[in-house]
Amino acid sequence: MKPAQDKKASDALIESAAEMILEAEYPIALTGAGMSVESGIPPFRGPGGLWTKYGEPPMNGFQRFLADPKKAWEERLSSRNDELYKPLTEAKPNPGHLALAELEQLGVLRFVITQNIDDLHRQAGQRAIAEIHGNWKLVRCLECALRFRREQIDFSELPPKCPECGGLIKSDTVSFGEPIPIDMLNLCAEHSARADLVIVAGTSATVYPAAGFALEIKQRGGAMVEVNLYESELTPLCDISLRGGSAEILPRLAQAIAILRKHRAS
Ligand SMILES: [Zn+2]
Repeated sequence: MKPAQDKKASDALIESAAEMILEAEYPIALTGAGMSVESGIPPFRGPGGLWTKYGEPPMNGFQRFLADPKKAWEERLSSRNDELYKPLTEAKPNPGHLALAELEQLGVLRFVITQNIDDLHRQAGQRAIAEIHGNWKLVRCLECALRFRREQIDFSELPPKCPECGGLIKSDTVSFGEPIPIDMLNLCAEHSARADLVIVAGTSATVYPAAGFALEIKQRGGAMVEVNLYESELTPLCDISLRGGSAEILPRLAQAIAILRKHRAS
């Protein structure tokens, strides 16, 4: 077990991180479940986790979907799912999400790769983003890979069909057994190839392929800044580790960056 909480990041350390981020040419961020938890979304696993309560989804969920998409959609649209998705419906972006969106607006942060499906980065105003595990509010055509909002789709006949190509429509969230959509992987690869710094927030970055993008930046000689409540397996690789929740640390970081920019401009 880890200690209850490691010592919080000092202002001086936050300022060092802010300087490092401002010096980088192409900083990106990788975010994970810790940011969702701080918006009141329970994690999937562990005590109080959604899967602990409702059972883990089948490991071959994607194959089961393909075998009987009509039944899969009937289950998906059932009332049981309403409860399962209630925390997602009620969640709002936290100050951490808003801080990353602000850094994008300042022209500092170039891209966000998130493992989260909760849509909160978008709701915070983040525009340059790849949701590698999908977005729970969207559906995706398995043929042409176009994403749609649910209200754009006719659910009167199941399984629903793509309005563009007639292909099979699935939830955009990536099921067990389903490959990460190739367009998302390409987008992440494109931006991480340009990145010389990665802010890893709210994730221990042990889930691939997301972790691979962060590690690749580091291995190429880029910098890594971690924002996490606890030490993670990435901590020894990090140039700076900022202890604390994303909702607390990222706004402090964004503020420090904004102040430094002002000083440099004047
Ligand atoms: Zn299509």
